[in-house]
Amino acid sequence: MRLHAPSVIAAAAINLLAVGASISIAADFEITVNAAETPHLKEWAEESKELLLKWKPRLVNLLSSPGFEAPTSAEIVMRKTDEGVAGTANGKIYVSSHWIEKHPEDIGLMVHELVHVIQDYPNGAEFWICEGIADYIRWAIYEGKEQDWFQRPKEEGGYKQGYRVAGGFLLWIESNDGPGIVNKLNRALREGEYKPELFEEATGKTLDELWDAYTAEG
Ligand SMILES: [Zn+2]
Repeated sequence: MRLHAPSVIAAAAINLLAVGASISIAADFEITVNAAETPHLKEWAEESKELLLKWKPRLVNLLSSPGFEAPTSAEIVMRKTDEGVAGTANGKIYVSSHWIEKHPEDIGLMVHELVHVIQDYPNGAEFWICEGIADYIRWAIYEGKEQDWFQRPKEEGGYKQGYRVAGGFLLWIESNDGPGIVNKLNRALREGEYKPELFEEATGKTLDELWDAYTAEG
């Protein structure tokens, strides 16, 4: 479970039976849109639903692991609120109205959130990797950003910032010593067997050696 905006989510348990909620079924995946609180953003939410229906099969393949069955449904819940961006919990993607009103072009954030739906990791999974994988898939794959676009903060353990910093780091490992690292990490996190040594097993370099090499280069 990933919570990006707990205050948004805290209030979100109510009113899920939306007036005007719509459901569509694409093969084995169903997305419900709930825009009851924000009718003016219903069109945005429906657009984002179409985007997620297109990307879901690819995300499931990228985040496959033995025996894993991907979720068969998700819900997009538009929240009328003055704070937060978006967050995902228990198959529900909560989106903050104030963010989308200001940044309607930021639809790619929904790809990041759908990654969390599909990750479906047990609680306590390594934060920086969860968020790093979600931003790797959003920015490097969906948005097509190249390596130089990602910031490389030159500080020890900088990857622990997660998000784009970790996403760029994972892109670099995928492109160099550790092709397939994202899928390996995904499997370990999902099965509750992640350990930092996994990086050395996959690449021959420790996590910190990899980080040092990455930041020395950029
Ligand atoms: Zn996230």
